[in-house]
Amino acid sequence: MKKRRSFGVRVDCVVNGRFCGRCCHQTEMPLTEEDIATIEGLGFKREDFVVVIDGIPRLRNVNGRCYFLDESNRCRIYEHRPVGCRIYPVVLDVETGKAVVDDICPRRDSVSSRDLRRAGTILRKLVRKIYSRRPQQRFSPSSP
Ligand code: SF4
Repeated sequence: MKKRRSFGVRVDCVVNGRFCGRCCHQTEMPLTEEDIATIEGLGFKREDFVVVIDGIPRLRNVNGRCYFLDESNRCRIYEHRPVGCRIYPVVLDVETGKAVVDDICPRRDSVSSRDLRRAGTILRKLVRKIYSRRPQQRFSPSSP
């Protein structure tokens, strides 16, 4: 499978000699249809990694960790991870609607203002895409 060519915020996820993985615990990361299709193309089954909450498909947690996070806190699908994961630690502040750097990320200070602007643009498109499809979701509800 071809690597996905899309912008990503580059941060060094190794903290104190170990992969951090903090952002991949209790994830609520929403998924686009393209994200799901890409991951299915790797051989994973939708029902294994997708959970639908309020009509929005999201990454499933298993024992409080993203389905794709391995024991060393590495992403098993890193090269093909969802768009929202690529632009993390830039997230949307639900109160202001603005793109901000998530303060739980130990590497938050390494995100440049240029990256924040670019990621913000992608994030707003992503939110529009996910919410515009919401009424037509073809997923059956399942529990987290
Ligand atoms: S898909 Fe990968 S980067 Fe995204 S939350 Fe899961 S483990 Fe983390």
